[in-house]
Amino acid sequence: MAEPLAPGAPPPGGIVPLFVPELRGNEWAYVKECLDTNWVSSVGPFVDRFERELAAAVGARFGVAVVNGTAALHLALLLAGVEPDDEVLVSALTFIAPANAIRYTGAWPVFIDAEPRCWQMDPVKLEAFLAGECRRIDGALRNRSTGRRVRGIVPVGILGHPCDMDPILELARRFELPVIGDATECLGATYKGRSMSEGCTMACYSFNGNKIITTGGGGMIVTDDEALAARARYLSTQAKDDPIEYEHGEVGFNYRLTNVLAALGVAQLEQLPAYVEVKRAIAQRYREALADLPGLSAMPESPDVRSTFWLYTIRVDAVRFGMDSRALLRRLAAAAVQARPLWQPLHRSRPFLGCQAHQVEVADQLAREALSLPSSVSLTADQQQRVIGALRAAAGAVVERA
Ligand SMILES: *Cc1c(COP(=O)(O)O)cnc(C)c1O
Repeated sequence: MAEPLAPGAPPPGGIVPLFVPELRGNEWAYVKECLDTNWVSSVGPFVDRFERELAAAVGARFGVAVVNGTAALHLALLLAGVEPDDEVLVSALTFIAPANAIRYTGAWPVFIDAEPRCWQMDPVKLEAFLAGECRRIDGALRNRSTGRRVRGIVPVGILGHPCDMDPILELARRFELPVIGDATECLGATYKGRSMSEGCTMACYSFNGNKIITTGGGGMIVTDDEALAARARYLSTQAKDDPIEYEHGEVGFNYRLTNVLAALGVAQLEQLPAYVEVKRAIAQRYREALADLPGLSAMPESPDVRSTFWLYTIRVDAVRFGMDSRALLRRLAAAAVQARPLWQPLHRSRPFLGCQAHQVEVADQLAREALSLPSSVSLTADQQQRVIGALRAAAGAVVERA
């Protein structure tokens, strides 16, 4: 996904960036408190506070802060019992991190398509795979074509919108699989009034620079299961059994978040509700201003969902709009507007070419057609007007040519 532009980069009337962090609350004060009190490393009051407050914000009992979202996913998969040569079902259309984390455990991803309505993991295709392609042998659910044990489901809520969790959680119960929700991109959103992580065995968050709130780099595992939370904490701190003799119970990881970064997290979290409102207003303006352009469709939002529109993303119908998403991307770039396509669907990504993709079609179509537009919390009305103007000019140029 797009790296944020350097904060403070000069805007020579210049580029409208896709996404930049917004750090204007208590960040300075809390970081200063860390430096003043010498609590700078992986133990400290802000780590505890960030864990408590983020867990509360998403309706979970426990939070365990780690160095980034990918590490959170890696640990959560290990805690769910994923072992080498197992298989884990994961969204085909997402940033690559969850699939990489599956490989870190030695397991293999099986890619599940997006549904066309809201672009998230398709529960119907998930069921078709579990019921049609898997069989229970000696108590273990196995993929009939590979013979491997299926060991978990990783639904990824993309672009600010949670997955349709009720049918996914129901399938998980029916097939006795843990759900590790990757709710990174929909922090602050609700599905039927709750966060995407509610009901998951564990859920993971990232606070990378391009997320709705950021610690520069950081992540969190949330869960209602006290034993899983304790084990996450243990494995993330080198599995230390005895802090005096330095005895270790197993091979652990150095995955803890530092107090300085957690201080940023606490300050950012205070602003999350306001950020969500700003981003919904940005989405509303895009929706209204682009509604009459043929061939551009607005970003979807399920009636069950209150999206954050993390990255406001349109779909470009090449025939009706008169140019495809990549041509439009180049036009926007020429107008100093930074847009982005979605990710290469993961079954087409080189590290995963050999992996199974179950009836993946919609993800490919979305990857061809979708374009994310500038969506920073700090996006000004003028900047947004420039984006809208550039899109309308592109549409106008098509009309003139015709
Ligand atoms: C950003 C992101 C991650 C990875 O988080 P990092 O903190 O960058 O490791 C994982 N999943 C999704 C859906 C993401 O967008």
